[in-house]
Amino acid sequence: MYYDNETVIYLNGQWQLAKDTTSGLYQQSFHYGNGVFEGIRAYNTEQGTKILRAKAHYERLLYSAKTMHMDVKYSVGDLIDLTYQLLKKNKLQDAYIRPLVYTDEKLGLQAESKCNLFLCAWDWSQYFAAGELNMKVSPYCRPDPRSCHVDAKVSGHYVNSILAMKDAHQDGFDDALLLDQKGFVAEASGANFFFQKDGELFTPPRGNILPGITRSIVMELAAANDIRVHEKHFTPEEVGVADGAFLTGTAVEIQAIGSINKQSFRLPWGDTFGAMLQQQFNDYVRMRKVEFKKTKAA
Ligand code: PMP
Repeated sequence: MYYDNETVIYLNGQWQLAKDTTSGLYQQSFHYGNGVFEGIRAYNTEQGTKILRAKAHYERLLYSAKTMHMDVKYSVGDLIDLTYQLLKKNKLQDAYIRPLVYTDEKLGLQAESKCNLFLCAWDWSQYFAAGELNMKVSPYCRPDPRSCHVDAKVSGHYVNSILAMKDAHQDGFDDALLLDQKGFVAEASGANFFFQKDGELFTPPRGNILPGITRSIVMELAAANDIRVHEKHFTPEEVGVADGAFLTGTAVEIQAIGSINKQSFRLPWGDTFGAMLQQQFNDYVRMRKVEFKKTKAA
């Protein structure tokens, strides 16, 4: 699924075939999760292939690397250029791009500044199968911001997501909704959360979440439709009486939620802001004209 015999990847200054690439077994990243990464999408638009918010993604990659004391020798501009080359070499137009920065071989626990850059991409059209997600409020909470930099995309943080997702699947749900240490809703295993109530949208504030780039696009689109978005703490019980809810993320894009802990919402998905924003997001990423709707009377 990720590569075939022809797939080209970038590793530390070299273009090489994915199938011929190997990596050492003694890296800190492998043993302790000390790597940082991104998930980026490129879309086939009327003006050619465009990487969505490339600058924001690579700024976040460099920020994540800095939190882990890694010294990345590439600028945001270098990384964007390399990514366009990667897409071209693999003849990809709609693609998911995965940059990974991982440390050199070292099995001590001292931070390692020397690091490697790996870039790969593949065709990954849809993350979840079509339809509305049934989510479970997870017994696992998000990592405490006093334990690690939760706003950085660090490989090791994702064991939390894997455990939460597995727990949700074991109980027959599609994904997990994780709470913070105080019991407020934080985010899904790999996406941000929004709900709609009485003509407004609500999403958790920064602090216990990965502040998503899709989340900020959705907030911009909402503003263009005159929809108020409140960044505030709320409990899963408050979401229980919502009109609708959705997830946002590079992989999931805008994903409808059908229910949380088997409780569904007041409105059918098609009548929610989520459905409208999903349509606008699809147009926006493909650089088509976006039809905004003023939701309030002037
Ligand atoms: N939260 C988590 C934990 C994630 O892994 C992701 C995916 N990167 C997101 C939120 C959404 O972020 P973005 O919109 O930047 O992809």
